[in-house]
Amino acid sequence: MSEKSIFSKIMDGEIPSDILYQDEHFICIKDIAPQAPTHLLLIPRKPIPRIADATPEDQSLLGHLMLKAGEIARDLGVDEAFRLVINNGADAGQTVFHLHVHLLAQKKFKEGSLGMS
Ligand code: AMP
Repeated sequence: MSEKSIFSKIMDGEIPSDILYQDEHFICIKDIAPQAPTHLLLIPRKPIPRIADATPEDQSLLGHLMLKAGEIARDLGVDEAFRLVINNGADAGQTVFHLHVHLLAQKKFKEGSLGMS
């Protein structure tokens, strides 16, 4: 069994964090090093290391995360402009190997830019 991720430790209360939204499938927390005024992480409770490791069994979970991202953006009043990002693999910028979706908002993203700046 691989080592427990920092996000699993947050879910299990071993590391303190403010959980903003949650249900039986995911939690949503503020990113500790925000890259936009709104920078949240939607994290499935199931510790899938990378999106590339997801299987057809995870289809509804992945759909759930997308729907929740939109719902949370609406709830926060940032649904006119936000960006969802999933980094897959170290070379793509992934540092925590427990799948998560970044929700970034309240920042003017460069047109046509897929970078974070
Ligand atoms: P990634 O680089 O896509 O794997 O994203 C990992 C994200 O987790 C980074 O944006 C980190 O700032 C964030 N992060 C790491 N540890 C914590 C923590 N304890 N609480 C909240 N966010 C964290």
